[in-house]
Amino acid sequence: SRAFNFCAGPAMLPEAVLKQAQSEMLDWRGTGMSVMEMSHRSDEFVEIAETAEKDLRELAGISDDYAVLFMQGGASSQFSSIPLNLLGEKTSADYVNTGIWSKKAIAEAKRYGNVNVVASAEDSGFASIPDQSAWTTSADAAYLHYTPNETIGGLEFDFVPESGSVPLVADLSSTILSRPLDVSKFGLIYAGAQKNIGPSGLVVVIIRKDLLGKARKETPTMMNYQVIADNDSMYNTPATYSWYLAGLVFQWLKEQGGVQAMAELNSRKAKKLYDFIDGSDFYANPIAARFRSWMNIPFTLADDGLNGAFLKGADARGLLNLKGHRSVGGMRASIYNAMPEAGVDALIQYMAEFAKERG
Ligand code: PLP
Repeated sequence: SRAFNFCAGPAMLPEAVLKQAQSEMLDWRGTGMSVMEMSHRSDEFVEIAETAEKDLRELAGISDDYAVLFMQGGASSQFSSIPLNLLGEKTSADYVNTGIWSKKAIAEAKRYGNVNVVASAEDSGFASIPDQSAWTTSADAAYLHYTPNETIGGLEFDFVPESGSVPLVADLSSTILSRPLDVSKFGLIYAGAQKNIGPSGLVVVIIRKDLLGKARKETPTMMNYQVIADNDSMYNTPATYSWYLAGLVFQWLKEQGGVQAMAELNSRKAKKLYDFIDGSDFYANPIAARFRSWMNIPFTLADDGLNGAFLKGADARGLLNLKGHRSVGGMRASIYNAMPEAGVDALIQYMAEFAKERG
């Protein structure tokens, strides 16, 4: 009876995770309490929190050189926390503009320092990423920020930029844990939870420890990475239930075979959908093949006037939230880790039938 939910976030969660949470809802392992009701300082919750961190470290291959922070305020609050914590004595930072989320990060950073937009996908209509040889990076920048996967536009890097001695900062909100990643190439990684990690209310920050302790003095305490690290992400009351659910998702991911198994599944799901779109003269995706997102697949219908009928028919089949972001229109299928391959198959079948009837 569960629908296939193609929402970009909050996104579908694995059914096994929800069932486990349901079975533990009223009484977590004989404590007589829901996790929601537990003190964050209790032994029980500290165990939940520590296990989640350990599992995430194992899944993503995060060494002891990095602190893992479980923060609040979404990925959007990191757009401010990053310059406040990392600019230090420097006056500028480098940013790559690949779409709406990059632009938001850039706008926020401009409040605190000079932003050098070293490359922009704008000239290609956000359909392609300029080759790194053409970027105007500076060795004096405090860091280089980029958005590996633009959730709205469906534009994704197929390479990790070289940043030399400058720390590389990445907004991995919509691609974390979808495939293996060499964390050692990054100074800081951040990701809002509500796509591949768990429910909203949580943002995971993975920061190389030598980058801690550089926050400007006006940095709000709750945004100061050093304070959060020193207090094991419990300077204040954390988003306990989201943290617990993230831990269940990490356990589920380990049971599925980890990020390597996810990569195989995710690349297969994405390829199927792109192959279908490319083979059809009714649907289209504008992104250069190399830079197509594995996670968020926007597509248009040959006739915009049919969008309403397409969505209505999809809803009736339990294929939910396919409407594209208001800024780009059309449709978008978000197919994160928890979207089963059967969901993609059902979508393709529906798209084929709709094109045959209405195309
Ligand atoms: N960055 C990216 C790439 C996103 O996709 C999103 C949300 O969809 C955000 C940042 C903002 O996340 P939040 O809503 O957690 O602030």
